[in-house]
Amino acid sequence: SSIFAGVELAPRDPILGLNEAFNADTRSTKVNLGVGVYSDDNGKIPLLAAVQAAEKARLEALPARGYQPIEGPAAYDSAVQKLLFGEGSELLAAGRVVTAQALGGTGALKIGADFLKRLNPASKVYISDPSWENHRALFESAGFEVENYPYYHAASRGVDFSAMKAHLGSLSAGSVIVLHACCHNPTGADLSAAQWEEVVSVCRERGLVPFLDMAYQGFADGIDADALAVRLFAASGLQFFVASSFSKSFSLYGERVGALSIVTAAKDESVRVLSQLKRVIRTNYSNPPIHGAAIVAAVLSSPALRQQWEDELAGMRERIRGMRLALLDAIKAHGVAADFSFITAQRGMFSYTGLSAAQVDRLREEFGIYAVSTGRICLAALNSKNVDYVAAAIAKVI
Ligand code: PMP
Repeated sequence: SSIFAGVELAPRDPILGLNEAFNADTRSTKVNLGVGVYSDDNGKIPLLAAVQAAEKARLEALPARGYQPIEGPAAYDSAVQKLLFGEGSELLAAGRVVTAQALGGTGALKIGADFLKRLNPASKVYISDPSWENHRALFESAGFEVENYPYYHAASRGVDFSAMKAHLGSLSAGSVIVLHACCHNPTGADLSAAQWEEVVSVCRERGLVPFLDMAYQGFADGIDADALAVRLFAASGLQFFVASSFSKSFSLYGERVGALSIVTAAKDESVRVLSQLKRVIRTNYSNPPIHGAAIVAAVLSSPALRQQWEDELAGMRERIRGMRLALLDAIKAHGVAADFSFITAQRGMFSYTGLSAAQVDRLREEFGIYAVSTGRICLAALNSKNVDYVAAAIAKVI
């Protein structure tokens, strides 16, 4: 018999499965609010002008394709560090940050998880309840036991901060705490600056290992404002991890461009940490791909392209904010009495709407509007042509 005879069929990825159903739907009015991708007002994933310019220049130079350094090119890694920690960061000047290019934010989490497992095999990993659906599986596949810490408060559509803080305060030293640095996925509910300071204090008091996931820098308030959590941890003197991604901020989803940054206590520690991180990378995929990271590095190092990118990123951020307002207004205009004002308080691409699984089913079956069964919708898929249709449908199902 076949060596694969006993292989069981794995469950479909809930969100990518939704995409397949959406693609098969023949209704012209269909709307995909499931997957976390930014579309422009025409419903298209943009190819940013700054990216186009850098790509054109790169292709004209006909670059050869040798292997990259295991940790990626220095120009890219240093551009990542400046975005996360700020141009004048003391940590960077002191050589206390190790950065390696990674295969998107997912790849950064994975090499970080593998490194942590070797460092501290007995520790547990804690993720927010709820969290990005891949966090648990990713840390489990690195060999960790994964548990939740309280996060979302359904009644207020915000964060249950006292429960979160109390829980973090009860964990044992060395526990790894995965934190969404901004634009929490899936809820859209973020911590305030004061709450972040309390989280930093708890991590220091309990000896926790913070692992920040920064997949949406620039989608809430701006590049530096959205790095607040990173900057507060940087100022704390603690050691911590940051997984970052350019999938959204450069609209380079399929190029798989991200990075893992590790803050150490001192420069000599950085050298040793990098040497071990390189072993993790070498045994996974040897060294990272060239193109996406080269584009990002070129944009970030050219003052003109960087300005153009910042303007385009601001455009994406403001369009989403506009869609939050438009959806709220349209829901009201369709006669809904329930309070949907949380839509404009939540940040980033997503909103936890409070729609039930049955209501989400009706949206899909009756209106061709695809949302995640948890009630998560992606605001970045709304546009001036579909927002009223979506609001009318929500008004009908609630
Ligand atoms: N973390 C979070 C919270 C995310 O939402 C995502 C993307 N959906 C990622 C990580 C992974 O990003 P990438 O596509 O760059 O791997």
